[in-house]
Amino acid sequence: MSDADKPPYAMRGNRVVHRTAGEIVHSAATFCRMFRVNRKTRLNIAQFFESLSTRSICIDPIEDSEWLLFTDAICSPETFTILVPESTYVKACNGDETAISTICHEIGHLVLAHKAVLHNEKSAKPSQGEDAEWQADEFAEYLMSRMGITSSKQLTLNFRDE
Ligand SMILES: [Zn+2]
Repeated sequence: MSDADKPPYAMRGNRVVHRTAGEIVHSAATFCRMFRVNRKTRLNIAQFFESLSTRSICIDPIEDSEWLLFTDAICSPETFTILVPESTYVKACNGDETAISTICHEIGHLVLAHKAVLHNEKSAKPSQGEDAEWQADEFAEYLMSRMGITSSKQLTLNFRDE
């Protein structure tokens, strides 16, 4: 089957600079070395989240009653801030895998520098490697595996933020 016959990849998020799974793993591995992410991290997630501030990544829990967004979480690449409902933050600190995965996904957006890119090759078909959501999921999955958490990706895929 030639490229032209394949159905176009359905993007879930912003179209960003293309990355392969290997490139994302490389970034995630560097991140894990920097923040010493390993199996012990899961037992002290709060400390891990706080350690992010040493690299100017801020996680800002927002009171659930004030959370008006239709997403699980959101990140702002301009300010390096991740906004999450307080309940998600607390759940993550208590070891909830879905909540940890949600926050790791947002960390992925920041570490992979997912700014809204004005793509200059709009004529080319989008590919999975250009999908910010796919990239952030791959990043989160690597972090989760380093923490010894089996992938909850399949369960949460449909509830991801955009
Ligand atoms: Zn996302």
